[in-house]
Amino acid sequence: MNYHKFDAVIIGAGGAGLMAALYASKSANVAVVSKLYPTRSHTGAAQGGIGAALGNLEEDHWEWHAFDTVKGGDYLVDQDAADIMCKDAVDIVLELEHMGLPFDRTADGKISQRPFGGHTNNVTKQPVRRAAHAADRTGHMILQTLYQQCIKQDVQFFDEYQFMDLLISEGRVAGIVAYHIDSGELHVFHAKAVFFATGGWGRLWNITSNAHSLTGDAPAVLLRKGYPLEDMEFFQFHPTGIYKMGILITEGVRGEGGVLINGKGERFMLKYAPTIKDLASRDVISRAIYLEIAEGRGVNGQDYVYLDVRPEVVNKYLAEDGKTNPDGSPRRITAADIEKKLPDIADFCRTYLDVDPIKQPMPIQPTAHYAMGGIPTDVDGRILVDASNTPLPGGFAAGEVACVSVHGANRLGTNSLVDLVVFGKRGGIAMAEYCNQVELPPLPENPTAGVQAELAQLMANTQGVPAAKLRKAMQEVMMMNVGVFRTDQLLSEALEKVRELRKQFAHVYVSDRGKRFNTDLLETWELHNMLDLAEVTVLAALNRTESRGGHARDDYPQRDDVNWLKHSFIWQDGDNYRFGYKPVTIGRYQPQARVY
Ligand SMILES: Cc1cc2nc3c(=O)[nH]c(=O)nc-3n(C[C@H](O)[C@H](O)[C@H](O)COP(=O)(O)OP(=O)(O)OC[C@H]3O[C@@H](n4cnc5c(N)ncnc54)[C@H](O)[C@@H]3O)c2cc1C
Repeated sequence: MNYHKFDAVIIGAGGAGLMAALYASKSANVAVVSKLYPTRSHTGAAQGGIGAALGNLEEDHWEWHAFDTVKGGDYLVDQDAADIMCKDAVDIVLELEHMGLPFDRTADGKISQRPFGGHTNNVTKQPVRRAAHAADRTGHMILQTLYQQCIKQDVQFFDEYQFMDLLISEGRVAGIVAYHIDSGELHVFHAKAVFFATGGWGRLWNITSNAHSLTGDAPAVLLRKGYPLEDMEFFQFHPTGIYKMGILITEGVRGEGGVLINGKGERFMLKYAPTIKDLASRDVISRAIYLEIAEGRGVNGQDYVYLDVRPEVVNKYLAEDGKTNPDGSPRRITAADIEKKLPDIADFCRTYLDVDPIKQPMPIQPTAHYAMGGIPTDVDGRILVDASNTPLPGGFAAGEVACVSVHGANRLGTNSLVDLVVFGKRGGIAMAEYCNQVELPPLPENPTAGVQAELAQLMANTQGVPAAKLRKAMQEVMMMNVGVFRTDQLLSEALEKVRELRKQFAHVYVSDRGKRFNTDLLETWELHNMLDLAEVTVLAALNRTESRGGHARDDYPQRDDVNWLKHSFIWQDGDNYRFGYKPVTIGRYQPQARVY
């Protein structure tokens, strides 16, 4: 048996995993296990910015940020957690700067900030400049900075090892089993604590901004082991993905003044969000685009609209809206600004669409983007095993895979990067403290037996259906039936289809029979995870008979605070599922109707 012993193992090397590693490794012996080379993690694709009420360009307060987060999350946010996040964000962004993160600067040398959807001056209700950014490569810079810090601190990395099983003994975490992708060998990591930072699962959908690796492995394994997942019905569709490809066009484009235009040439957000217009929260804009298309106002009768950042168009609307710079002069953009502030976006459009955003509008449609739900945790990253906040000893999680819940029913742009660093750090510290208090538990007997049996089963068929075919069918039904708008009928059809696909999965055939880099086998295992998560997503969506944030039910169009101001927990119980509920922590902000 390939055996390793550490105080703690962190699974995932994105922003959350690296921040946890940086802090945990100050006082514990830590390994980071990642199926990707660390700097290929999806955090590196984050474009627009990280939100913090630095107030560098205009008045701002962390309490305003917290209110926007709660309102953006349609009041399903736990307000104690949102307070921590928004307050800590200010110091942590400065900490990242001191680690060497090359933020863009204002003329007087401060960190520059841009407006982003749903972030407002709470008094005037107008967009506020809160997103700190490094061009449109903010996540890339965070990832590189944190990785360098981890290397400096001698954190041990196990790159291209795929987590497959969590080991439990004596009622607490005892380590993990991972698959070494290069050799096909199993490795046991014996540890007092395990930290999940494996990111989201956008690959359940056909049109998505998410990387191929985002298949929800950790939550699916936990679900199969009898642990609950929280708020799985809430998955965010980002309004502006490149048409048919899903590649993200950052909200930063609209932060710089870009506007959404329908097939009739109208700036339709004036109708749906008269105050904040193109910078309303993502759920609101995705629904508006969907409605414009459904009512025949897509471009050329097709299922897309335009995102327009051409300087002459943007400047016309900036003037109409009376937008000014901090010094009071009228706000304008030039072609050179676009090249400087949005270089990657300009590049993507030219490369993938043959569209030059300086001269032409960009065709866009909503794209599956972000998991609000996930592994339930407290504000120190401890995994919770029930709705009464009982922790799993030695189990931790943070980042997109976790549900603290700071995003409630809909996440605001720039708030994921904040979540990663704030709760990655808190979780890392709490985990190191835990490791210093407990002894290493014994390993369960025959620790790799479960994974061996699972892999043998996947390799057992000598003919059958390829995983790619089932995956495509799953992604299509999730896109058509479990998307921006949902109904009982759409969801019931999806449930039937996903269950049928799960049955067909028994006949899946892995054609690569080798050991080294057997991506066919690994993708098949990942499909198993995605089918499990698809089923719980549909069940949770069917169960919640109201519309809130990213979960819009056409047959229950109203938010229902009397019955549904609560988090949902779902457990897999053999072939059955059961639900539990947890009250939302309300603080300063009583639920109100959301008006933008
Ligand atoms: C295109 C795009 C743009 C975005 N822009 C922004 C933005 O501007 N601002 C913002 O706040 N948010 C943004 N987001 C959201 C944000 O980037 C993500 O939510 C966040 O980066 C997730 O970070 P993470 O650390 O949780 O996981 P990730 O960065 O996704 O990393 C996951 C890690 O887990 C590892 N892993 C997964 N499964 C396994 C396994 N089975 N075994 C071993 N390792 C595993 C992977 O190797 C990887 O290292 C964007 C997202 C996308 C897709």
